[in-house]
Amino acid sequence: MLGDLTGHPQSIPGSPDTGGTVPGRLKSALPSADHLSRTRWSRPRSAGRRPRTRPAGRGQCTVAETSRRRFLLGAGATGIALGLGSAGVVETVADRASVALPIPRGEHDYHARELEGAAFPQVPEEPGRFGMNRVIWSVPTTRPLAALTFDDGPTPEYTPRILEALRDAGVTATFNVMGHNAVAHRNLLREVVAAGHELGNHTWSHLNLTRLTPQQTRDEIVRCKETVEDIVGQPLAGFRPPRGMLTGYALRVCAELGYDVWVWSCTRGPDGVGTTDVVVDHLGSLVGPGDVVDLHDGLGRGTFQPGTSFTAGLAARREVEVRALPAVLHRVAERGITLTSAGRLLAAASDGGVPTAQRTGTA
Ligand SMILES: [Zn+2]
Repeated sequence: MLGDLTGHPQSIPGSPDTGGTVPGRLKSALPSADHLSRTRWSRPRSAGRRPRTRPAGRGQCTVAETSRRRFLLGAGATGIALGLGSAGVVETVADRASVALPIPRGEHDYHARELEGAAFPQVPEEPGRFGMNRVIWSVPTTRPLAALTFDDGPTPEYTPRILEALRDAGVTATFNVMGHNAVAHRNLLREVVAAGHELGNHTWSHLNLTRLTPQQTRDEIVRCKETVEDIVGQPLAGFRPPRGMLTGYALRVCAELGYDVWVWSCTRGPDGVGTTDVVVDHLGSLVGPGDVVDLHDGLGRGTFQPGTSFTAGLAARREVEVRALPAVLHRVAERGITLTSAGRLLAAASDGGVPTAQRTGTA
């Protein structure tokens, strides 16, 4: 069960990235099951009075709606998945009972405020005017362009060979780097930039964002930004969430930093190690206009788990991916598709490209 009437998560599945534990700060913010079982919820003080109102032009907002909004916004701090779970429960109860939901008070109010604050400005009285940023799976366009992206590097094992293949094919791409690897391999990072490729933010150490506290989320994204930009002297172009997993708070940090969030529409293909032929056939026949292709030049969390079977399997998978790249580039080019960086795809599609219906079922 992901949420109860309080909007608090009741349990969080273990994660290989965090050793199966709830992060310390988040854990301390959650009420124990025993505490919840002893808690009696009081009726809201304003129940029976006139409904509170939203600002002019937004219509009226009942206490029930206000309360529900608080729960939903609070859930955003602990992940979209958790938020949806909580939202479903709250909506059902509100609809069935048609009464105001209880407003958390005392200690529970403190917990709710801490969670709610994650998706709002640090100073609640100030507006969070971060504008509009996109979550991009693919780019609607008729132009024969697709984005080629590499995650988790730079690493000496994979990045130089990828750079060579890209140079031979005359292709530029986006490298979504892990801050840890960028610092460990500074010269390699500079080589990527010198070759004309784009850099994106792939967090500092590739932790699962849905398992992190708001502060940990901010640290992972901002530390990558600051360290990488300090090395290369230019801003990162956007954000690629590890494993494509996002939370409301991660989206907020990205909005603050002006990042579009780049997910993807195509990967290298089926699970497992596979063969170069399978990868070449898969990508060579699949990639079309507007696609965002997600490949890798590193091992993600495997970077920190050398010698494990998990890392060995991932390394074998990456090796096949890298070896397949030259033929993939050739096959895609043969079909008239030009691979380029994410930023260039977006700019080209926005500059006279004729939008088409969204592609579906491409990954
Ligand atoms: Zn990754």
